[in-house]
Amino acid sequence: MIAETGVSVGVGHLTHPSSVFAYFDAGHVLAGVAARHCDEHRPSSSRMVACGACWERAIRDDERFAVECGLPREITPDPDYVDEIAVEQACRGERVELTYAEFSAAVVRLHWQGLTPSAISKRLHASFLAVLAAFPAELIGAAA
Ligand SMILES: [Zn+2]
Repeated sequence: MIAETGVSVGVGHLTHPSSVFAYFDAGHVLAGVAARHCDEHRPSSSRMVACGACWERAIRDDERFAVECGLPREITPDPDYVDEIAVEQACRGERVELTYAEFSAAVVRLHWQGLTPSAISKRLHASFLAVLAAFPAELIGAAA
């Protein structure tokens, strides 16, 4: 249960003054859901993300859905998973956070588009050495 205490509450890396009730911040996976619940009864200008009751509703609903559907409680991210949209954005020169697998996929894609390793490093906002390190072994000879 989440309770409003009125005392200083540290949430992750944020510490809010005692006059602000803090629960989770906007980076929480359920922040959008909690905020939509809260939109029904409070103007968004009067709160950080959502009130305690709306956070609790969002978390309980999420928990109930997971139990009803038999979803695993802990999800281990696949280190080899490649978010194609993130790779696409990176290849357009946008600054996006990439996993190593995504960075390597972006390097390969730009290589096949004809970019040199130097041009790839500029496009991906990464060092030249990082680009070379991400080249798959079978492309090393073709990268020069
Ligand atoms: Zn609310």
